[in-house]
This record gives sequence, structure tokens and C-alpha cells, in this order.
Amino acid sequence: MPDTQFADIILPLALRGRFTYRIPGELVDRVKPGVRVLVQFGGRQFYSGIVCSIHDRSPEIKNIRTITRVLDEIPLINESQLKLWFWISDYYLCGEGEVMKAALPSETSINSYKPRFETFVKLARQFSEKELNEILDNLSKARKQQELLTTYLSLTGYGPKTEISEISKSVLLSESQTSMVILNALIGKGILKSFSLPVSRISEEEVLKEPVKVLSEAQLTAYNSILNQLKEKDVVLLHGVTSSGKTEIYIHLIEEQLKRGRQVLYMLPEIALTTQIILRLKKHFGAMTGVYHSRFNDPEKVEIWKRVADPDPLTGFRLILGVRSSIFLPFSNLGLVIVDEEHDGSYKQHDPAPRYHARDSAIMLASIHKAKTILGSASPSIESFNNTVNGKYGLTELKERFGLIKLPSIVIANTREAYRKKLMVSHFTPELLQAMDEALGKEEQIILFQNRRGFSPYIQCSECGWIPVCIQCAVNLTYHKGINKLVCHYCGYTTGLPSNCGNCHSTGMTTKGFGTEKIEDEIKIVFPAARVARMDQDTTRNKNSFSKIIRAFEEKRIDILIGTQMISKGLDFENLTVVGILNADNLLNYPDFRAHERSFQLMEQVSGRAGRRQKQGKVVIQTADPTHRIIRLMLRHDYGTMFRMQVEERMAFNYPPFSRMVKISLKHKDRSQLNHYSEILGNDLKTIFGKRVLGPESPVISQVQLWYIKNILIKIERERPPAKAKQLIVGALERIEKEKGASSLRIAVDVDPY
Ligand code: ADP
Ligand code: ZN
Ligand code: ZN
Repeated sequence: MPDTQFADIILPLALRGRFTYRIPGELVDRVKPGVRVLVQFGGRQFYSGIVCSIHDRSPEIKNIRTITRVLDEIPLINESQLKLWFWISDYYLCGEGEVMKAALPSETSINSYKPRFETFVKLARQFSEKELNEILDNLSKARKQQELLTTYLSLTGYGPKTEISEISKSVLLSESQTSMVILNALIGKGILKSFSLPVSRISEEEVLKEPVKVLSEAQLTAYNSILNQLKEKDVVLLHGVTSSGKTEIYIHLIEEQLKRGRQVLYMLPEIALTTQIILRLKKHFGAMTGVYHSRFNDPEKVEIWKRVADPDPLTGFRLILGVRSSIFLPFSNLGLVIVDEEHDGSYKQHDPAPRYHARDSAIMLASIHKAKTILGSASPSIESFNNTVNGKYGLTELKERFGLIKLPSIVIANTREAYRKKLMVSHFTPELLQAMDEALGKEEQIILFQNRRGFSPYIQCSECGWIPVCIQCAVNLTYHKGINKLVCHYCGYTTGLPSNCGNCHSTGMTTKGFGTEKIEDEIKIVFPAARVARMDQDTTRNKNSFSKIIRAFEEKRIDILIGTQMISKGLDFENLTVVGILNADNLLNYPDFRAHERSFQLMEQVSGRAGRRQKQGKVVIQTADPTHRIIRLMLRHDYGTMFRMQVEERMAFNYPPFSRMVKISLKHKDRSQLNHYSEILGNDLKTIFGKRVLGPESPVISQVQLWYIKNILIKIERERPPAKAKQLIVGALERIEKEKGASSLRIAVDVDPY
């Protein structure tokens, strides 16, 4: 039966492989790659899947099922998107169905998406001045109707010689303080009429257009160097110190691409950052600029999706500012991808699968579109900088700040000594207090950075040392004073504050360490006159909370802003001169081979917020270990030495970028079962990869939400073809999945864990 056709379909399930269905004769014309189809899977479950290919090879199973329905007339997913999905699934060892789930807005919102309509009001026809006066006179007994009509005339600026223009019904009613009854009366008299128009769900702020800024000499040199290198390389790393004007260079690169009619994707690691940059971009590129992040609801996401796919420059988006997941948008004509703050760990998705790195996937996305990629950072990742050393990427450097302002001066404040000499005021060293005092005296602004939210990371019995932990996770509970509760930051479990020790029943429970909430409390006591605000996960739960805080800071309604890593990157405030890093030690002492690199990047980023206009800023780093190598390098903003030191270390211990790592996490609710299966998998992998396998080992957090965890790490040499190694890993995973009783085991694979 050579004329029978089959389709391979991706289903939104965490399963390996595609599923083959027969295409019934009447649907043959409509089943194409990229369309969604409804199919039955398992018992009576129906799913909508994406068709990825069509062929006439009958699979070797009996009772092959048939496609039930075709859901799209035009493919929802274009060919380039499918290519990216396949690459992610291949590279990150996850199912295509898992990629599909991450990539698509929810099913129901695609199906039920309708454009939103709004009712508008306008004059029923053109009236002469005489007619209008008569109408108004006649309405003198109907005061409310007269009021509504005059409001319409003044809001639209209507005169007998001008065009009739419409106004939104809700605006008209609220401005004239009238109601539908009044409006209906005027419509009944043939004076006004109403009609509806499709409107966007995405609120659009009107921004005055400005031409792009003229680049400085240093910027122009960098810009030309980028263009030159792009003739030969697909990726160029722009390594420019903080406030060197990288964003302005991106803007010039974007302008050039848009002129050529190509789309640009501009990626940022953090939603908070989109607030400022979107305004900077809209100033130049107007309504063709869109934003995409997880705070949008599903209908909004569908609208953005449609506008990215829309090739019309008047209604479609040509420039998209987005976070991680924006790589999945339906670009049709991408010319350039910019990955700003490329070193940032937020680009990596941890859970659930696909555990992709959005920077690396963006480079792949660009290459699928035959587009170019610019990576930007003041402190590039060791991986990316190493790729410039080995010639894979181009490199352009900007070593000075725009306007030749000096990089902030760094003051290292020794907390150990200050405690010993009893000079600490709560958690603040004399150096920090002095810098803050001076800044406040000059009405300048301050940022305080602390990488922990909540009031204190744990509480402890002062008699016996007992610490309350989560009932589901091997994690200390964080005290949140605002709600007066203990909270688990891993699973969200919340409980009241115990008045007695759970072990010895003494009443001496004390808070330990400090988070942003405690700093806020104490700053208010130390500087009672200052206006203080906090920006962390707890204060930014609402959709517009980021922009509100950022705007308040821009408008100088806040003197001191306290925050977590959310405030550390990318933000540009003109009056901010002092940055305090309250505890550098908990960054440096994190148990991870990237801890030093990360601490340097984070400190460099947060320092970079200070003194961006007119005058040099000041950064106070509080640490108990002032001779630490990384702290010493921070003094000179010495990225080069940091890079060389890290490279030596990574080479010596065979860490990335000199090896590829694959982490396999096993989870089970029963500890001994977990040990059993992880031994089996560990031994299986060791027979294949030998000493390249580390573990199984319990991670620092060994239990989350009642699931015990063990990790196995595989380090594969760079020179080995990764596909072969990955195939062997998948083989081992398939074997462990077939072990008796293994269905209650959960396995997560993380390629290039971050
Ligand atoms: P970066 O992205 O490297 O941190 P920005 O692009 O944000 O730096 O530039 C820092 C500040 O200098 C911004 O306020 C920006 O508007 C200003 N700036 C940069 N380049 C120019 C320029 N060519 N003309 C005028 N202002 C500039
Ligand atoms: Zn106790
Ligand atoms: Zn928990």
C-alpha cells in the first residue's frame, strides 16, 4: 500500500521519541509539518501534537492509529522552530514533547484566542457649525447629554473643518461622568454612533521618538570592529566595562538590521531589566518593538506570538526584547540575536526539562536563520571568553566608560575586625556607613546588595543549637518578619514561628544571619530620615511591581534601595553613587566550581551600577576575608587575571570549558531504594565511561519535597564527539528505566549544568 501516508508527531509528554499515526485519505492535503493534529494516545486520552514529518514507511506495529482531526490550517510552528526544537532535544537529552511544552503558550489559549475588541464613539456625520450649535442648544434641557457631547468635542478637538475622530467609549464615559443611558440617547438621536475595533491586549506606552545617539569615538571603533568580525565569524563577544555604552552599540546594530528588513532578538537574563531597556528601545524603534517574558498571561503571550509571526512592519514586531523563553517565538526573518549579560546564570533553565541554556540555544537559533549573534558582558563567562581565545568567536573590547568616567573605586571593609573592635552598627561597617552618610548628604542614591531574601536565613536555639527545618526538604527555614512565618525557599512550605525549641523546649530561639528584609528594617533605624525600599522576589510578585520600584528610584523618590541579584545587573540610574555589598563571603564560599567566577561577575555587575554619569562612584565590599584572591582582583576590576586563574584551575581539574559535563539526578521517596538504583546506574555508567563518572553523591540539599536526591556527574572530554557519548548515556538510562520497580524513580538529565 505505497499510497498510505504516515505522520511522525510530537506529543506534549515527557517521553522519548516521536509517534507515528496514519493520515486518513481525506486529511492528506491538510497534514503538513508544523500543524497541530488531534490524536488518541494511551487509553482514551486525546492530545494535540505537532506534525514533524510525513512519509510512507509503515511502522512495524499492528493497529496503527489514525489522526483524528487537523487543528490548524496554516502551520503553527515554522520549519526553523522545529529545527531548534530538534537541536534542543538532542543536545540537552530531553524529549521533543518537553521542548514543545516549554515552547508553546498553553493549548487552550491558542484555541480560544480571539482578538480583543473595544467600543469606540464618534460623530454620526460631519456637522456644520450652525448645526452643532443648534444641537447643543436643543440639549440644554438634557444637561447630561450636553455634557457628554461637549466632552467628546473637547477630547477629540473637533471643529467643523476637522476630520471626525473616534474616542474609546469607556474613556468618554468616565471623562464626562455620564453613563450608557445618556450615550444611547445621543446615539438614538443620530448625533453620535458607536462601533467596535480590535485592540491590543498589550498596553503600549506612548514614547516620543528620538534618533539614535551619536557614538563616541571608542564606541564607533568597537561598532566597526564588530561589523568587520561578523564578516567571518557568526558570534562576536563584546567585552565592555560597565557603562561603556554597550547598549548604545546594540541600538546601532539593531537599527542596521531593521533597515534591512530583518528581525532582531535582544535577550536579557532578568525581567526586571526589561523595564528600562524597553523604553530606551521604543524611543528609537517605536511600536515595532515587543517584550516577551513569563509575567504575561496566556492570551497576551498568544498575541505576542502572532505579532512576531506577522511580517507586516506596521502591525508585526520586528524587534523583540525577551528573557530565556523568547528563543521559542516564531521568528521568520531573524538577522541578529543579542545576548546581553551573557555570563548570567539565569539563562540556564534548571527545572523542568528542557534544561537548556538560552545563550547557547540562541546561538543555534541564529545559525538556523543564518543570522549573527552578539554576546555582551562586562565580565564574560569563562566559556565564552575562552571561545574568543581559541578563535571560535570574535572579540571586541571597550575598556573605558562612556564620557570617560572612572570605574567606581572599591573599598574593602573587614567585618571580622570591625566586630572585634565593636565598630559594627548592626550589619554595617564604619566604611559603609560613612560612604552612605556622604551620599545622603549630597542627595545621591544608594544600592545595598544582599543575596538572600527574607529576614534571616535560619533561626536557632541558643541553648542546644536546634534549627527548624522544612518538613519536606533538607533545608533550613527562612524567617520572614513581615508575615511572621518560617518559609521554605525550596518548596514554599510555611509555618508559624515556634516560641520554644523543638528539641530542649527552651525559649531562647534567636534569628541568625540576615536577608534583605532585615537590612531594610535596620537601615530604617540607622537612617531614619532616608526613604528606603526593597526589591526582591517578595516585593515584586505583582506584574508591574518592578517598573514601579525602578521608576520611583529614577524619580528620586527612594534614597536607599536594598535588593537581591535582581538589582545587580543592567540598570542605569543617573544619581546612584554608592553601592554596598553586604556579605561577599556567602558568594565566595558557595560549593561549586563556578563560585569564584560567579562572585567576581556579580560583584562587578552590582558595582557597575554606581557612578554612571558625571562622577566616579564608590563600592564598599564587606567581607571577613579581605585577602581573598577574588576580592583583591575586584579592587582593580581585573577581569583578565580572573580569567587566566580560572582557566588554569579548570584545565587542571578538567572542568568546563575543557570538558563537557552531564549531570544525572535521581530522586526517590525511599532513601534505600534511591541508593539501590543510583548504584546500579553509577556502575553501568562506570563500565562505559570509567573514571569520568563521579558519584553517586548526595547534593548539598539532599531532599526536596520529600524526594531524596543523588547525583551522578559525567565529565566527557571536549575532543570526543558528544553525540556518541550522549547515545551511550541514553542507553544506560533506558536500562535503568527497565529495572524492576524503577517506575517510582525520577531521573533528570542536565547537560552543561550551571
Ligand atoms: P552599558 O550597556 O555598557 O552598561 P549604556 O549603554 O547603558 O552602557 O551606557 C551608559 C550610559 O551612558 C547610559 O546612560 C547611556 O545613555 C549613556 N551613553 C552611552 N553612549 C552614549 C552616547 N554615544 N551618547 C550619549 N550617551 C551615551
Ligand atoms: Zn534547644
Ligand atoms: Zn521545603
